[in-house]
Amino acid sequence: MDPTYSPEAEAYREKVQAFLAEKLPSNWNGLGGLEGDDITDFVTAWRKTLYEANYLAPGWPSEYGGAGLTATEQVILAEEFTRAGVPSGGPNDVFGIQMLGNTLLMWGTEEQKSHYIPRLLAGEDTWCQGYSEPDAGSDLGNVGLRAELDGDEWVLNGQKIWTSAGHLADHIFTLARSDPDSPKHKGISFLLVPMDQPGIEVRPIKMISGESEFNEVFYTDARCPKENVVGGVNNGWAVAMSLLGFERGEAAATGPIRYQTELDRLIEMARERGLTDDPVIRQRLAWCHSKVQIMKFLGQRTLTQFLAGHHPGPDGAISKLYWSEYHRVVTELGVDILGADALYIEGRPPSSSFQTDDPGAANTSGSWVNTFLNARAGTIYAGSSQIQRNIIGEMILQLPKEPKPA
Ligand SMILES: Cc1cc2nc3c(=O)[nH]c(=O)nc-3n(C[C@H](O)[C@H](O)[C@H](O)COP(=O)(O)OP(=O)(O)OC[C@H]3O[C@@H](n4cnc5c(N)ncnc54)[C@H](O)[C@@H]3O)c2cc1C
Repeated sequence: MDPTYSPEAEAYREKVQAFLAEKLPSNWNGLGGLEGDDITDFVTAWRKTLYEANYLAPGWPSEYGGAGLTATEQVILAEEFTRAGVPSGGPNDVFGIQMLGNTLLMWGTEEQKSHYIPRLLAGEDTWCQGYSEPDAGSDLGNVGLRAELDGDEWVLNGQKIWTSAGHLADHIFTLARSDPDSPKHKGISFLLVPMDQPGIEVRPIKMISGESEFNEVFYTDARCPKENVVGGVNNGWAVAMSLLGFERGEAAATGPIRYQTELDRLIEMARERGLTDDPVIRQRLAWCHSKVQIMKFLGQRTLTQFLAGHHPGPDGAISKLYWSEYHRVVTELGVDILGADALYIEGRPPSSSFQTDDPGAANTSGSWVNTFLNARAGTIYAGSSQIQRNIIGEMILQLPKEPKPA
């Protein structure tokens, strides 16, 4: 574990700090300091700033609209953005740029790259991820959405579920069974499907927080052109797995910064409410502190490997399990510190339902209760905790494999 930065890397850090100083308002205190429409307005304008600086996909080559940064520079950029409390893109970029864009660079045809990549960066298309189905979540190889060729088009019939941002997106990248006679993980294709057509129906699902962030998506004779298959017909499993692997190495660096910022806010809230002398609260805060420290060390280990050119393998499961289970507990403490005030929701909710509230957010019930409710989902999406434990047991600790049903 030695994530040291060279003098050249530190010089790049100063460049990023100068960029932030130039582009952010002088009284900037993090996205959490903004309310209502000001949040959307800031994020829209900030995304444009990043687009113009080629910072939306900083690691991509310049021919595809990236900044061609080295791995170290990408990590530094992400660290400095996180410290400044600004997003690294717009709300859809995790699906469009991070997941699909990276996958197209790896598997896409030249036509697919030249059509979709500029549109992704310009924010012209919005995407969602159509993987999960009622009978295919943890067991994703069981996808049953049918894709059949009809002349120059694929015809799709079936259902997806838990599709985040499905109600906002105009395109869905989806896994469909194109050869029903092949074994489970074969015969699947990765398709790019426009959503603005009569064959697609999106039904929002209400979450525990009251928001409707994810959806069911029904396909009834939905269509997409034959050439919208990525990585070859019946080769979708390999494409789907590389998409899931595009967890950025820099998340190892930024996660602990975000959790530390959140914990600092929590300690401040305990202070504001006169609870820092309560021995049980002190004990629970100390537990959280120790977990964030461990996350920092875990992050530094991943970062050392990333900077040495290795991409996270199965040990990505350790940090996924760690942050998601930690976040459930720390947000419970937040609600306990609020006490009866947690029953009355007031104040700005987090701008995103994923992970921590924005840096600079006030210690309100609107912030902590919503984050507490959303934290439950963290142990399910991107692979549930049970699945992460299976991966750690089988692939890292080399324990005997879980028995398969006959
Ligand atoms: C907030 C949120 C957003 C999401 N967004 C998207 C999205 O945009 N696109 C998308 O395609 N999907 C999305 N998902 C779906 C997510 O990927 C699945 O919920 C997840 O993979 C689990 O699948 P499942 O819900 O079908 O549960 P199941 O797989 O049915 O699991 C049910 C329970 O059984 C356990 N279990 C299952 N198999 C095993 C096993 N082999 N060993 C031990 N325990 C096991 C699980 O851990 C879980 O506790 C989202 C989910 C959430 C919560």
